[in-house]
Amino acid sequence: MTTAHTLGKRKKIALVAHDRKKEDLINWAVGNKETLSKHELFATGTTGKLVEEALDRPVKKLLSGPLGGDQQIGSMIAAGEIDMLIFFWDPMEAQPHDSDVKALLRLGVAWNIPMACDRATADFLFTSSFMNEEYKRVIPDYSTYLQRKI
Ligand code: PGA
Repeated sequence: MTTAHTLGKRKKIALVAHDRKKEDLINWAVGNKETLSKHELFATGTTGKLVEEALDRPVKKLLSGPLGGDQQIGSMIAAGEIDMLIFFWDPMEAQPHDSDVKALLRLGVAWNIPMACDRATADFLFTSSFMNEEYKRVIPDYSTYLQRKI
């Protein structure tokens, strides 16, 4: 049985950027300040601090990514507490928390949340009419998995 979770007009958006992608994310965020102002922002620690300074607005800051922030965001996605993820991860540098990065990306797909990992996708996402409307996010049916015989 498929269920759905309705995202409100004001969305809960998580922002994460690896160190060499932070400038890119901040530039993008400044360019999208007006749209971002209509939504609630969450971020891993360092990214959140930079976004707060650049946009001069509060951001709910979690732990720094490598210290558990990625996992906190992942658990919020699983709990239906994050509606969208903008995650500029670095394709050119291995991260000490690679396993956490993979886990976060996996949960984003497992729960079918809109997710942008680069600027172009973030631009497409932010120009979608769904940004200003409610959106029914289908939650994949995991009942067969949950009822499997062990
Ligand atoms: P940071 O974490 O915003 O605390 O730097 C980002 C990440 O997940 O690497």
